[in-house]
Amino acid sequence: MKFFHRYRGLLGGAALLLAVAFALGVCFFALDRTAAEAQRLTVVLDAGHGGIDGGVTGVKTGVKESDLNLSVVFLLQERFEEAGFRVVLTRKTEAGLYGLATPGFKKRDMQKRAEIICGANPALVISVHMNFFSLPSRRGAQVFFREDSESSKRLACNLQSSLNAMPDCARRSDPLRGDYFILNCSEYPSAIVECGFLSNAEDEALLTDGGYRKELAGAIAAGAMTFLSSPANTGGGVDIFSRG
Ligand SMILES: [Zn+2]
Repeated sequence: MKFFHRYRGLLGGAALLLAVAFALGVCFFALDRTAAEAQRLTVVLDAGHGGIDGGVTGVKTGVKESDLNLSVVFLLQERFEEAGFRVVLTRKTEAGLYGLATPGFKKRDMQKRAEIICGANPALVISVHMNFFSLPSRRGAQVFFREDSESSKRLACNLQSSLNAMPDCARRSDPLRGDYFILNCSEYPSAIVECGFLSNAEDEALLTDGGYRKELAGAIAAGAMTFLSSPANTGGGVDIFSRG
């Protein structure tokens, strides 16, 4: 007790110093976090279709394109978040983005996607779809870019190269130019990935397999990281491998 009385002033001072140091530490930590947060790049992942618009359907299983698109987007989201990116999804559920299923729903759905993209200020936009063709033999993943956009083309090239390098790649393709709303609705580097053909039984078997979709998402994410690791594509030297 005597000891405590003698050193009370000293102990009080030390406690106060500790409290101030802790508060300052928390403050700097918070500031650092905010700065790091501000520097994080955003990617928009767009799962095509949804709600009453299921997209195309599998010839064997009747699987809906909209369900597969969403599944691939969730797997992609994991990959990007693990790599430290901020991810914005246009569609997060089975539902479409059009509100009520009344005439003009498709236009409303697409406008909502454009709003989300523009509000996110993303480093890139990837729209995920499944393909369908009258010739059942047509197979493989196909990437589309916006004709008048060099950055869209570079992104599409990186994505297509990565998809072409997959062990299960059925057909190597070059990216194609496409006149699509989701590519034209903003100036951000945007690409459409048609993951495979639901009109082809072998592609359908792959696309309805969760393991294959994981592999596919890995390839898409790897292609996107290649694009983002080039300073020319992000407006500055963003070292994507050092961010947490
Ligand atoms: Zn589609």
